[in-house]
Amino acid sequence: MKQLLILLPLIAYTACAQTPVEKVSKTIRPGEVRWIEFPVQDSKNKLTCRGEEIKFAEQGNKGKAFVMESYFSNLKPFKCVVTSDGAATYEINFTVEDREYPAEQLRVDSKTIRLSPEAEKRAWEEQQVLNRIYASSERTFHFTQPFIPPLNSTVTSIYGTKRVYNKKKKGQHLGIDYRAAIGDKIPAANSGKVVFAGDLFYTGWTVILDHGMDIFTVYGHLSKTLVKEGEMVKRGQLIALSGNTGRTSGPHLHWGVKVQGQYIDGFVLVDETKKYFTE
Ligand SMILES: [Zn+2]
Repeated sequence: MKQLLILLPLIAYTACAQTPVEKVSKTIRPGEVRWIEFPVQDSKNKLTCRGEEIKFAEQGNKGKAFVMESYFSNLKPFKCVVTSDGAATYEINFTVEDREYPAEQLRVDSKTIRLSPEAEKRAWEEQQVLNRIYASSERTFHFTQPFIPPLNSTVTSIYGTKRVYNKKKKGQHLGIDYRAAIGDKIPAANSGKVVFAGDLFYTGWTVILDHGMDIFTVYGHLSKTLVKEGEMVKRGQLIALSGNTGRTSGPHLHWGVKVQGQYIDGFVLVDETKKYFTE
């Protein structure tokens, strides 16, 4: 028995040494996404990043997925591991580089920052509905082409801008604001399924598209929605008209992009999909 106990670690070590895990390195920054491809052998493959399972698509013997880093990143490196039946077969090591985001000073009436109990209740209830929507993305890419920015107009507030109200830091803007008049045509940034079309406390009349694989785009402060929940839309298809509904200081389009539960920079998704998807 004693001999067996001594032998066991040796057997385990030999088993590990026989199956070397291929390792690659990548970089990412807070609020960004990266496309990854990796070999897959069978249907038992799983992809796990930071210990959480990530949806991926299989094409031939390749797995394909997006990896995101939260805006609220602690800049710690992390691993994405591909496993087959529990054993690691491929590893992607991410280094997180810092990204500076600008700050804008806003002076507002303190009454407009504080919400009434009714407004707070409404916003909370809507958040529960949105959480359910964001947790039910379909496990397939609904698109085959790169993402396109919804408008060509001036960007009035870029993704990640820190907002300082009355000299106290209050939050950050995790979307892209475009200059738009009331009634400007808003196209879908990519093909997908309409999972929400309705009125919300913060973003007013809003359309949310599920592009599959936990990728969503959000179009806010609209004057009119032109699509119905459950409908499939094509990239560039007219889905709404811009406006100034919800909590806004004037007409504009708020474009939000959510990947795996976090708002990321839509322009990075546009660039990254341009590299790996064909027109
Ligand atoms: Zn906005």
